[in-house]
Amino acid sequence: MVRTKKVRTPLIAGNWKMHNAREQTRQLIGELKPLIDGLSDVEVCVCPPFTVLAVASETIGDAEISLGAQNVFWEEKGAWTSQISADMLLDVGCRYAILGHSETRGRFGKVDDLLAGRLHYFGERDDTINIKARVCLAKGLTPIICCGETIDERQAGKTDDIISSQIRACLDGLTPDQIETLVIAYEPVWAIGTGEVCGSDEANRVCRLIRQTVRDNFGTDAGNGVRILYGGSMNDKNAEELLEQSEIDGGLIGGAALKADSFATICKAASFAAWNFYI
Ligand code: PEP
Repeated sequence: MVRTKKVRTPLIAGNWKMHNAREQTRQLIGELKPLIDGLSDVEVCVCPPFTVLAVASETIGDAEISLGAQNVFWEEKGAWTSQISADMLLDVGCRYAILGHSETRGRFGKVDDLLAGRLHYFGERDDTINIKARVCLAKGLTPIICCGETIDERQAGKTDDIISSQIRACLDGLTPDQIETLVIAYEPVWAIGTGEVCGSDEANRVCRLIRQTVRDNFGTDAGNGVRILYGGSMNDKNAEELLEQSEIDGGLIGGAALKADSFATICKAASFAAWNFYI
């Protein structure tokens, strides 16, 4: 049996969304630490709400867990009520920022869509994600850029066009060196929080399409270096099959990140999947 390490270190990032106040944050991270202690060949990250980033940072201490935020604003400071800057996130210990999650995207940015109760809650668009990515990279925060198609787009056969156009627009103007360091998350909107996971072959195919789009537009090194995660109802039962796919470099995890044991099981599956085995 021959073992060879895969080129890219997998990343497992937990998106806590709007869950957990201070006490639950201490408890969840406190439970997670011993479960992943000593785990090699995987990077573990938690992305709590803004209000508990400081508590999360203190609780993590010197454990091998990175901290991420769920959004960022592009301005440095000033009269931007409600917004949080990259400097503020760095100050509290963040290394990552999730950008363009489908729950913050508004692909068309129309108030009508908001009122119609569609998925366009916060008016995030490819071009605002792009500005945020530029600022994050300039400041030293690593963006986790989300892309994904809705069920209507998938059923209309538009998945590939939607995904490649989101990738080109979100990465526009970034240098190949910058792109090599960042993270993209393929999150089919219909699979997020629904329990309906994308099949591993199809998830791998779309992640390959993303990598090829990066190669075609920003060069081979950028395409080979960028880490591409899958997100959408990944859990402790289906993680292994998804994470062993050649183009999937980790996971963005929602619901299953809220329990230390299920999140740790996913981290262990990623650690195992960081190696190729040949007979
Ligand atoms: C997410 O919110 O990014 C996500 C993937 O959620 P879930 O794992 O709950 O589908």
